[in-house]
Amino acid sequence: MRLDGKVAIVTGSSRGIGRAIALKLASLGAKVVVNYNKGAQAAQEVVEQIKAQGGEAIAIQADVSKFEEAQRLVEETLKAFGKVDILVNNAGINRDNLLAMMKESDWDEVLDTNLKSAFNCCKAVLRPMLKQRYGRIVNVSSVAGLRGNPGQANYCASKAGLIGLTKALAKELGPRNITVNAVAPGFIETDMTASLPEELKKKAVELTPLGRAGKPEDVANAVAFLVSDEASFITGQVLAVDGGLAV
Ligand code: NAP
Repeated sequence: MRLDGKVAIVTGSSRGIGRAIALKLASLGAKVVVNYNKGAQAAQEVVEQIKAQGGEAIAIQADVSKFEEAQRLVEETLKAFGKVDILVNNAGINRDNLLAMMKESDWDEVLDTNLKSAFNCCKAVLRPMLKQRYGRIVNVSSVAGLRGNPGQANYCASKAGLIGLTKALAKELGPRNITVNAVAPGFIETDMTASLPEELKKKAVELTPLGRAGKPEDVANAVAFLVSDEASFITGQVLAVDGGLAV
């Protein structure tokens, strides 16, 4: 499996799952845009790591929840690399609370960052991908979007929304040779899950048939397959990367 000559944008790839995806795609030969919002130094470190391994990468700051910034992200990518073949919509946040306590801003921030960002970035890559009649889009959803979780109404709605977006765009863009798939990670060890209460982490592992937490690399491997030529007849799918949690 190789991605030589391909150009990939990975949103939110300064840390966690996005970082692992950026490193994996670069290791397969893709030129990678490491997008971040606040973590300039972390993003630069990802770029340096890719370069140290003989790959090509640049970091671009853009808050992808904002339509204009997503447009700029793609414009700067085209300026640097001349095209865009792969988009991984990975940027995401959580603002967990029971609905009774959830503020309107908690809802808006999560929906904008997790779901609207994907709309923004898909819109921005549409023209270049349609023109070249080739594209690979992967949306990072979650088991939470398949199953629902108490205390995460905003997060679950955003992740379920990504699945609807994935299926609609797969049908819309299939005729132009653009595939659109989603991955639904289970419990993965990153900054996002590090602050969860120990009891909750233990329970998540207990509920996982494979009996362990996932690593960012587990998700990156699945994404790498979905954007590869080997997956060229797969579109509109949601691949759970969860050790069996959602079964
Ligand atoms: P993380 O460690 O908290 O990293 C989040 C990344 O998203 C960071 O690189 C952050 O960049 C970036 N980001 C946040 N808001 C952004 C914005 N507005 N514009 C651009 N980038 C932004 O999270 P993670 O656990 O790796 O999660 C990655 C994705 O996987 C998320 O969509 C998450 O919902 C999903 N997921 C995670 C798990 C899990 O168990 N960890 C499970 C299922 C799904 P800055 O630091 O620069 O702001």
